Amino acid sequence: MTIIGHTLGFPRIGAHRELKYALESYWNNLIKPEQLLEIGRMLRIRHWEKQKECGMDWIPVGDFAWYDHVLSTSLMVNNIPKRHRCDNEKQANLDTLFRISRGCFIDNKLIAPSELKKWFNTNYHYIVPEFSENQDFQLNWMQLFDEIDEALSLKYPVKPILLGPISYLWLGKTTGKTFNRLSLLPSLLKVYKKILKIISKKNINWIQIDEPILSLELPTLWTSAYLSTYEQLHGKVKLLLTTYFDDIHHQLNTITQLKIDGLHVDLVSNSNNISLLHQTLPKHWVISAGIINGRNIWKTNLHNWFKKLSPIVTERKLWIGPSCSFLHIPIDLDLENQLDTHIKKCFAFSIQKCLEIKMLCAALNSKNTNDSNACADTLLSYCNDYKYFKTHYDIMHNINIAKQLKNIDNIPKTRNTKYVKRSVLQHNTLNLPMLPTTTIGSFPQTKEIRKLRADLKKNKIEKNFYNINIKKYIKKIITEQEKLGLDVLVHGEPERNDMVEYFGENLDGFIFTQNGWIQSYGSRCVKPPIIIGDISRSKPITKEWIHYAQTLTKKPIKGILTGPITITIWSFLREDIELKTIALQLALAIRAEVLDLEQTGIKIIQIDEPALREGLPLKYRDQKQYLEWAINIFNTTISSVKDTTQIHTHMCYSEFNDIMHVIGRLDADVISIEASRSNENILTSIHNCINNLNEIGPGVYDIHSPNIPTKKEIIKKINQLLKYIPKTRLWINPDCGLKTRSWIEIKKSLNNMISAAKTLRDQ
Ligand code: GLN
Ligand code: ZN
Repeated sequence: MTIIGHTLGFPRIGAHRELKYALESYWNNLIKPEQLLEIGRMLRIRHWEKQKECGMDWIPVGDFAWYDHVLSTSLMVNNIPKRHRCDNEKQANLDTLFRISRGCFIDNKLIAPSELKKWFNTNYHYIVPEFSENQDFQLNWMQLFDEIDEALSLKYPVKPILLGPISYLWLGKTTGKTFNRLSLLPSLLKVYKKILKIISKKNINWIQIDEPILSLELPTLWTSAYLSTYEQLHGKVKLLLTTYFDDIHHQLNTITQLKIDGLHVDLVSNSNNISLLHQTLPKHWVISAGIINGRNIWKTNLHNWFKKLSPIVTERKLWIGPSCSFLHIPIDLDLENQLDTHIKKCFAFSIQKCLEIKMLCAALNSKNTNDSNACADTLLSYCNDYKYFKTHYDIMHNINIAKQLKNIDNIPKTRNTKYVKRSVLQHNTLNLPMLPTTTIGSFPQTKEIRKLRADLKKNKIEKNFYNINIKKYIKKIITEQEKLGLDVLVHGEPERNDMVEYFGENLDGFIFTQNGWIQSYGSRCVKPPIIIGDISRSKPITKEWIHYAQTLTKKPIKGILTGPITITIWSFLREDIELKTIALQLALAIRAEVLDLEQTGIKIIQIDEPALREGLPLKYRDQKQYLEWAINIFNTTISSVKDTTQIHTHMCYSEFNDIMHVIGRLDADVISIEASRSNENILTSIHNCINNLNEIGPGVYDIHSPNIPTKKEIIKKINQLLKYIPKTRLWINPDCGLKTRSWIEIKKSLNNMISAAKTLRDQ
């Protein structure tokens, strides 16, 4: 039986972020729709061609999306929120799609975009589908079929990708009256059947149907919905039910009964066991073994997998693939020409991982042939580079760190005094008004600032010249904030390219790529650093900038730092070193930074932990332990500050309901969270936990959309918050940093926000 190699999806943004630039140009009316469409087409073809060149037997179609693949699914089944439809638009088009994802003005009225939410435990955000009771679905948007035709016309062996109907319903939310979303399944299935029928008329053998929610502990009603659903969907085209991100053993009873032709399992991120699956799953099914890590950039130990899979290949049809879509890793390692050659030899990005798949398939296919030994040898030597790395960059080499870790028990686990007591001291020191106003940290990153940073990196300018200019910009940011009348100011983060990359660059133990961009949401990308060894801080990182900002104003400056959990979760980690070891080293480094800031007279320090929720394991059974650990790490970072120092933390895009009950155990005084795009649920859960929450600033407007909130809207929002949060504990702030907005937008929005706070303060 021939072993097949395939991928579950390729990054859509482009190796040079072509899609990002095209989208942004289109949004700014700099290019026409046809030009945008053409860039999309060029990227798809390029990515298909690459995968084919790298020996993939199937080419995925349906992984491309103009903003997000869940949103594409919403359009396909005509699930378009009423508020985003235009009367004169019979058929949805690209602008409809962007209205849903970015919000808009219709008849001069501000229309909110749909909510963004993290895609399982990744840093990719999807657009949350909105469902109303008894709604109907229709086949509407032909993108998938067009792309299938496009790929077929170029003679690619096409494997379309569909987001499965049950996962689609699960990932959405109800609007208006709450109801069981499963009640919409029959209507949705009618459309899915139609989709499958159309596909079956094309020259297609297999469909990859993604049901990632099977890794969750689903309510019984949802699990049992799978049986009839796949009974109905099964037809001429074979179905590869695709799961990823965690183990699925708990669902095997259901899965084995499904009418499908194959199952993809993630064998990297969890304890899925290939031999057990092989024994349990029907013998005529294909198993697609997800053995190449789709979420990290290290080479795969191919020889190990060769040994593990060898006994199975003679007994059943096996496909080899990545654990999940390559959406979460960069495209091409060959573009990285500044990495140390030894280190580079240990990495594989999407293209290189395709080649790994090809190599392993070749070795397995050559079993019992004359080439067999040669192939196995190739796999062995492929992994040697990695061994080299392990011996040269082992962790715990740094004696200072080893010493600190030994003394870890001497670090207090919590702050000296309880919030109730220390808050009085803080209020006396800070003397802030009721409903204090602040921002989350960053201000716009202008072209000049970016150039300045780039020039410094290329040694085109002197450090001194750079410092003077960054300070000039900090001065402007302070002046603007004073003019606006904010109560707690920030220095604006102009020296930071990215909240994680910046700290990585200033700590030992990290390396960086030049092109390793990953889509975060829409056109936004991040470039995660890579942790290669012990992490340590050799000198203060932010002190110079934040201290300078404080010399310019009498108002308190809030010093902003990125927290250890976020740096850990948003970096590519070593696969052979425990995440906990890395996070603890980071906690010690940031702790030193906190104490340095305090020493220079900074009275408010914010530790950003937007990724804390992201690290939450998908299974309830693992969550408690994670949260205990995360609280401990956070508290280690701040436990030794003075009572008078006010500690803030910030989190965004989270399903806070799941973690609200423990957020109060983070020993912070103020927490600002993203809540402007989410519904009342989060407010109810804030309300339920309010006694543990100290002070809180749920964002009063959405910074991810270009719309300017009016004073009236913000007053309405604050009044809504006041129903759940006592006035003495409410902070007024946007829902996230302002880095991506323009100064014009910021001034108008903040002005309205401050004016709203002042009006309510006086009431
Ligand atoms: N302080 C950061 C900023 O304002 C926080 C970013 C974030 O939460 N993602 O940009
Ligand atoms: Zn944020």
